[in-house]
Amino acid sequence: MNDSVIKCHAVDKAYANKAVLREVSLEVAAGSFVGLVGMNGSGKTTLLKTLLDLTICDSGSIQLFGRSHRDAAAREQMAYLPDRFVPPAYLRCKDFLKYMLELHGREYNKEKVVRLFAELELEPEILTASVQSLSKGMTQKLGLIACLLSEKQLLVLDEPMSGLDPRARVLVKQRLAHLKAQGVTVFFSSHALADVEEIADDMAVLHHGKLLYTGRTGEFMQQYKAETLEQAYMNCLSQTSTITAL
Ligand code: ADP
Repeated sequence: MNDSVIKCHAVDKAYANKAVLREVSLEVAAGSFVGLVGMNGSGKTTLLKTLLDLTICDSGSIQLFGRSHRDAAAREQMAYLPDRFVPPAYLRCKDFLKYMLELHGREYNKEKVVRLFAELELEPEILTASVQSLSKGMTQKLGLIACLLSEKQLLVLDEPMSGLDPRARVLVKQRLAHLKAQGVTVFFSSHALADVEEIADDMAVLHHGKLLYTGRTGEFMQQYKAETLEQAYMNCLSQTSTITAL
């Protein structure tokens, strides 16, 4: 059994009086690829931000690599791509990457940067361009590249495929598959169930702040008697609303 790199126990979070996370308990094993799915507003971003201590939970506990998530050292082996990633407008792409790498305690290695740019089909010329000149998809790729260059053991990616065109989605998924082969742990949110079905081994389904399922994606489909993750998800939600209505 792999050790857990993320362990949440009974995490609650409310904004004003609105409960956003309710008793969320989940574990992410070292080397696993876990997709966090749920409707808009179900609490995915809040959960990921809570892991990083960017949002403080009201109760419950979170451990990263066996240490409290409040301890900055617990986050040393972690890189994060926020939802709606926007790099500081005044930086050039290269400066942004250098800055991120410095924060991650890594050297800027031109060869690695150029290789990743080629893999994700970004022209190396844009390294000297302002981040402001990038399209949404290019900006997203830059954010992903910063995470990949960190070479951390755990990547927490909030909607990593957001804003990418179909070709870029494929390239990013191929890159994520490399990480899987290298034993990197990835915990990512997505509302594209096809992406989760394709790249995740495990999944967590969050609905109105409550976890409805955690476990293997294949078992989720079996449990909800469906051929696709999409159908299983719909069956899961309709069972939940039936139970809630009873
Ligand atoms: P998701 O990522 O699944 O779309 P979020 O975690 O972004 O969901 O949001 C969950 C709920 O919390 C939503 O109703 C959202 O409006 C609310 N929320 C998120 N952040 C804040 C905030 N900073 N202040 C108040 N409400 C918030």
